[in-house]
Amino acid sequence: MSNDLIRALEGALQKDRVLTKASELLCYAYDATAGEAGRVPDVVVLPASTDEVARVVRIARDAGAPVYPRGAGTGLSGGAIPARGGIVLSTAGMDAVLELDVENQCAIVQPGVVIQRLNDVAAGHGLMYPPDPGSVAVATMGGSIAECAGGLRGLKYGVTKHYVTGLEVVLADGQVVRLGGKTTKNVTGYDLVGLFVGSEGTLGVITEATVRLVPAPEARATMTAVFARSGDASRTVAAIMAGRVIPATLEFIDATTLRLVEEYTHAGLPTDAAALLLIEVDGPPRAAARSSKTPRCRAAASPRCSPRSRTSPGATGSRSPLSATPATATCTRQSSSTPTTRS
Ligand SMILES: Cc1cc2nc3c(=O)[nH]c(=O)nc-3n(C[C@H](O)[C@H](O)[C@H](O)COP(=O)(O)OP(=O)(O)OC[C@H]3O[C@@H](n4cnc5c(N)ncnc54)[C@H](O)[C@@H]3O)c2cc1C
Repeated sequence: MSNDLIRALEGALQKDRVLTKASELLCYAYDATAGEAGRVPDVVVLPASTDEVARVVRIARDAGAPVYPRGAGTGLSGGAIPARGGIVLSTAGMDAVLELDVENQCAIVQPGVVIQRLNDVAAGHGLMYPPDPGSVAVATMGGSIAECAGGLRGLKYGVTKHYVTGLEVVLADGQVVRLGGKTTKNVTGYDLVGLFVGSEGTLGVITEATVRLVPAPEARATMTAVFARSGDASRTVAAIMAGRVIPATLEFIDATTLRLVEEYTHAGLPTDAAALLLIEVDGPPRAAARSSKTPRCRAAASPRCSPRSRTSPGATGSRSPLSATPATATCTRQSSSTPTTRS
């Protein structure tokens, strides 16, 4: 990469937000994709505003240099890896929650806002942002929108594409466009917001997002159900759904996964089981309790059905005991499930 290009970038941003040292560049050679060799970028830029993003993109366009948007680098599909060298454009520093519109139940955020932080802010108003990939504590809104991230709650609440209603995007020629907005229906014209959600940074750089929030459930109840035959676990899933209970979480964990998680965490998981279902129901306290006691949840799950009391102190504070952070995994058995009301 030419010195002219570096100088142009330093002219567009403050010099300390253009990284060129080998030790700094190395950190941006990888994301969380397993088995990817990585590739060191030529330069990393840390813009602080939409205008700066647009300036960088225009400079890159004129120089014919590839640009790789990047959030927290937790993606599992290699999208943030600068496969052809060039410029890594990190939006992690653009991390303001610009607006929390409680009346309209939505928020406007910059792309670097960490998902959990949005939830912490929303929880103060009894709201939550449902998409919850296992990386929720570090992944950014920009990255998770670009990946259309899902998460354990996807069964009941859907995935990221169901919550993004508006975007501000810098296109490949440096043009800034605004798509969608706060309006819920917004059905006129092409669904350009939908096109951008899940586009993995290939169509432009997201510089702002408007997302829907929902009322946080007042209570949660969680149970694990252990099966000697995996077919029984599958049939239980079907029976639960047929019983018109839509759990927030209904995760099927097979024998191999159980053994691997147990090897890593020593959490006391039943390694002799063929499958385990992790079930979480939520809603008003009574509804959550009733759902967790539905015969299909309880009977089909054999004598080794272990209710776990789960409460909802905040919108999203609690994570599943088998969430993607293995170090936090537990599988303690409790005898009853009594969800308590959020204060
Ligand atoms: C432990 C762990 C658990 C996970 N669990 C789940 C899960 O349960 N469900 C699930 O769906 N996913 C899961 N993921 C993957 C999840 O999709 C990513 O963690 C997250 O979406 C990426 O966010 P990020 O900020 O790290 O983005 P990055 O990894 O930095 O980038 C991801 C992609 O988004 C693009 N991008 C980043 N910022 C922008 C921007 N501002 N504008 C345009 N494009 C941008 C990048 O170019 C790249 O293509 C998990 C990952 C980990 C490591």
